[in-house]
Amino acid sequence: MAVRIAVYPGSFDPITNGHLDIVRRAAVLFDEVIVAVSLNASKNPLFSLEERLMLLDHVLSAFSNVRIDSYDGLTVRYAETHGAQAIIRGLRAVSDFEFEFTMALTNKKLAPAIETVFLMTEVQYSFISSSTIKEVARYGGCVKGMVPPSVEDMLSIKYRSLK
Ligand code: ADP
Repeated sequence: MAVRIAVYPGSFDPITNGHLDIVRRAAVLFDEVIVAVSLNASKNPLFSLEERLMLLDHVLSAFSNVRIDSYDGLTVRYAETHGAQAIIRGLRAVSDFEFEFTMALTNKKLAPAIETVFLMTEVQYSFISSSTIKEVARYGGCVKGMVPPSVEDMLSIKYRSLK
């Protein structure tokens, strides 16, 4: 039987417990999940690519069928090159839907063989986004329970060094 491979693309600036939950569930559904940091999507990121990859590596090291990578360019081209049949995206609220819907249909047009698979967030993670986390951490707020401990540490180091 063919190996089922999925790409989970995103900025991951930084990885949150919401992302982690999506990876955990995708890893059950697919033989292999590639968590791929998209370079073009990163809108003036707080963490460098190396830092984001390092955090992902640390947080996801326990998953034997999850790999970390980065890419530039079209997600569908990356997926095709790596033999993936699916692109994973997480949905938090209705507000995510419009953008994701447009993106999924565009990707379908570009690469009809690749399916976008949406995983609905667990309710306890539905309010978590990388941008909110950064905003809270920047002003010294506590992000415990919203991000893995290593990310919490990196956020406080980062904002201390930026002061
Ligand atoms: P992008 O810039 O591509 O949106 P992100 O790193 O912000 O990258 O998000 C990557 C994917 O993870 C997106 O599909 C996003 O909707 C999803 N996601 C982000 N936060 C959560 C969360 N708390 N629960 C479920 N999915 C999430």
